[in-house]
Amino acid sequence: MTTTRSTPAPDFIRCIIAQDLKANKNEGRVVTRFPPEPNGYLHIGHAKSICLNFGIAGEHKGGTCHLRFDDTNPCKEEVEYVESIKADVRWLGFDWGDHLYYTSDYFDQLYEYAVQLIKVGKAYVCSLSAQEIRHYRGTLTEAGKDSPYRTRSMEENVDLFERMRAGEFEEGSHVLRAKIDMASPNLNMRDPTLYRIRRVAHHRTGNKWCIYPMYDFSHCLSDSIEGITHSICTLEFEDNRPLYDWVLDELHMDCHPQQIEFARLNLSYTVLSKRKLVELVEQGCVTGWDDPRMPTLTGLRRRGYTPESIRNFCERIGVAKRDSMVDMALLEHCVREDLNVRAPRVMGVLQPLRVVIDNYPEDQVEELEAVNNPEDPSMGTRKVPFSRVLYIEREDFREDPPKKFFRLAPGREVRLRYAYFITCVGVVKDEQSGKVVELHCTYDPETRGGWSPDGRKVKGTLHWVSAAHSLEAEVRLYDRLFVHPNPGGEKDGPDFKTYFNPNSLQTLRSCRVEPSLAGAAPGSRCQFERQGYFCVDTVDSSPGVLVFNRTASLRDSWAKIEKAQKNKS
Ligand code: ATP
Ligand code: MG
Repeated sequence: MTTTRSTPAPDFIRCIIAQDLKANKNEGRVVTRFPPEPNGYLHIGHAKSICLNFGIAGEHKGGTCHLRFDDTNPCKEEVEYVESIKADVRWLGFDWGDHLYYTSDYFDQLYEYAVQLIKVGKAYVCSLSAQEIRHYRGTLTEAGKDSPYRTRSMEENVDLFERMRAGEFEEGSHVLRAKIDMASPNLNMRDPTLYRIRRVAHHRTGNKWCIYPMYDFSHCLSDSIEGITHSICTLEFEDNRPLYDWVLDELHMDCHPQQIEFARLNLSYTVLSKRKLVELVEQGCVTGWDDPRMPTLTGLRRRGYTPESIRNFCERIGVAKRDSMVDMALLEHCVREDLNVRAPRVMGVLQPLRVVIDNYPEDQVEELEAVNNPEDPSMGTRKVPFSRVLYIEREDFREDPPKKFFRLAPGREVRLRYAYFITCVGVVKDEQSGKVVELHCTYDPETRGGWSPDGRKVKGTLHWVSAAHSLEAEVRLYDRLFVHPNPGGEKDGPDFKTYFNPNSLQTLRSCRVEPSLAGAAPGSRCQFERQGYFCVDTVDSSPGVLVFNRTASLRDSWAKIEKAQKNKS
């Protein structure tokens, strides 16, 4: 099903499946599905479900995982979403093979099943208004009340349902409901709606239908039609399970998949609800679904995340039955860990400060050897040009250095990575603003490569680029989308957008990067030494225009959290 990868430690779902296989349930088949509703782009929470469903199928011989678009609500669904979902699942590294389905493909069958339920007296057409239905439903502590239409004859129900389908009625005038138990302690069992009238064209069936099935009716039947063995969903569907089973039992379906619920992913400092993500896009808080700050797969991809890092994250968080909040720092840690071994190192100066090496020959240029990745010698070395005028990072110089500032300062010597030791001998300031505009330094020719033959030590090592050889680049520094760890979490709290982080994007326009990055392909990744991991933006870069997105800084707050946890225990 998918490429081989390490098998995660068995979680409770994998244990259930292993037991089923042992008991030869489902004739030894394992068929799962990932059933997105095409009403938005996939996010990192969906990745958890994708890794789980496709992962489990891939771990069993002959196992399959279906990709099924749960397209029963034509009001909010679009073809754009269908295409993006397919692209995102593939990008994550999973393959549904021939098993691509749409619930809308079953509309005829589902209609027939509904008629069948009516004929055995288990469904009826109810003509209460939506508000009345809500009122009749009762509450958690109070039983519901039977609809006055509950006793309609089977013939009348068949006739009305046919006419609902034929388009004779207005939206909201009738619904089809299951006839179960208005006194059930489970509100989902109080004659839930199975079909409603929606006079809206559907992106696949056009105007063929004006009645559409509800999730609770279509989902279990779609699972059954496809021969799903384990229908894995998130915890909020636990109370829908009796209804899932009721529909399949009442229709005597041959295939009765087992619904198993697990805790959805909650991630700190972001929101994982499609409704909220749509809001951020539509209200222009972000530039789109692929804004690199978004927790969507397309956003994370543009940010520079690798599919491997996301799969690894999903494996680490595991699968459990209890809701929890995962720290965003863990996701960041996973991408760092992956990029550390695969991203070539380069030098890029984000906020340049001009440095003139007074004793370096004016027209001399040296090609100095730099290591591409100290973690992986097979990645080799490259040449970086060094000349009399350089740029270093503005924050690597302090005229009046505080304690523990080991970088450049007047009179102080530091190492330029792969190059020479330099000593600051002069500071040029703008007369009006007093701002430092240029430094004068001397270099020690004996320290070529960054080492002193006399064993002299320096405390600071700086990155740099040659002014004449470097390329201009735009760099976008991203921070968390929200300033609150759980922006969507408070029930009666303020709107989640109140917690939007106004500093979540910082754009730097006159950055200078080493010439090896000329022509860097959109999407390619690197580490700017001492700065972080970056990738070439796929949208705004073009030949001659370099735009970098910071994927992650080098500060690993997760490592600190883990250390603190270890110290505690
Ligand atoms: P909505 O918020 O619109 O109901 P949804 O986020 O549940 O949407 P679906 O398209 O219905 O999105 O989700 C497809 C699958 O992904 C479902 O099986 C759902 O349980 C799972 N899923 C969605 N969000 C998460 C999450 N945060 N963690 C784990 N699985 C998730
Ligand atoms: Mg859903």
